[in-house]
Amino acid sequence: MAVKNVRASMELIALGDYLPPSMAEGKSFLVQRFARIPVGQFHVVGYSVAGEETVVQVPELNVCFDIGRSPHFALTSDIVCISHAHMDHIAGLAYYLSQRHFQGMKPGTIIVPRELERPIDNLLRCWREVERQGTPYKLIGLSPNQHYEVRKDFIIRALATHHRVTSLGYSLINVREKLKPEYQGIPGPELAEMRKKGVEIQYRLEVPLVTYLGDTTIGPVFDHPDVQNSQVLLTELTFYDEDHRQRAKVGRHLHLEHFLEILPKLNNQEIVIIHISRRTGIGRAKYLLRKRIGEAKMKNIHFLMDFENAADAGDVENVGPPLADSAE
Ligand SMILES: [Zn+2]
Ligand SMILES: [Zn+2]
Repeated sequence: MAVKNVRASMELIALGDYLPPSMAEGKSFLVQRFARIPVGQFHVVGYSVAGEETVVQVPELNVCFDIGRSPHFALTSDIVCISHAHMDHIAGLAYYLSQRHFQGMKPGTIIVPRELERPIDNLLRCWREVERQGTPYKLIGLSPNQHYEVRKDFIIRALATHHRVTSLGYSLINVREKLKPEYQGIPGPELAEMRKKGVEIQYRLEVPLVTYLGDTTIGPVFDHPDVQNSQVLLTELTFYDEDHRQRAKVGRHLHLEHFLEILPKLNNQEIVIIHISRRTGIGRAKYLLRKRIGEAKMKNIHFLMDFENAADAGDVENVGPPLADSAE
């Protein structure tokens, strides 16, 4: 990446750092902090709060999932995969493209659910006219299980997720050509000869590296092998409290109870939880999850926004009014 003035490598990037101390102090609403956490061979950089903003970048793979309000670090990703068109996930799209153009970077590639391809294209054309700048972009619409080939050895597969509006998840997959076991040990020139004769000596091996599920509730997507076997799984888990079950149902989001059902199917090395409701908060979300699955299983589960290592918030259901029965 040739652009030097875009920095995505800071441990924490705080807008408050650029404000005079008198302004930054105690005015948390002026401060937006971004997370950067290591997961296996990758990093996840981003910000995700339900209903507010979601943007999650994997710098090593040059991909950003959703764009939020297009924070500065997101500009460094050449590819943006949009999960769905709720404003907290897509607001900064035109800005991302325009800024990259302005800064002399190559046009961004935007992957969207097929049904959104036309309306988003209209929107971006409209912006060209409004801004009077011929901002270039590459827009790709995918249907579930279709993929976009970034390189011969790297594809992005779209997965059907289950939200209130058209939505996709995405899996970043390393594709390897492997020699079939029956041909192992055969000398190179002989293999080349066989190849020339049209013998299929190789097979295709797909290794899902990072899978992102934007807004979704429980459903078949969690049975998809890319989701279950991805080295890193980024998933929403919006609601935790018993009396938020109805909210999860109406908004088509995951509730802790869903996640407990899903967890035994997952073989991921690392799971990163995003899109937590402010109604719950990180400390309490962590506490409620740990309470149900135990400390050992928490080891490979990260909360993206836990960059302050939030303290457990404990049981508060005992101090409030009795919980209303949910309609479920
Ligand atoms: Zn959302
Ligand atoms: Zn949504």
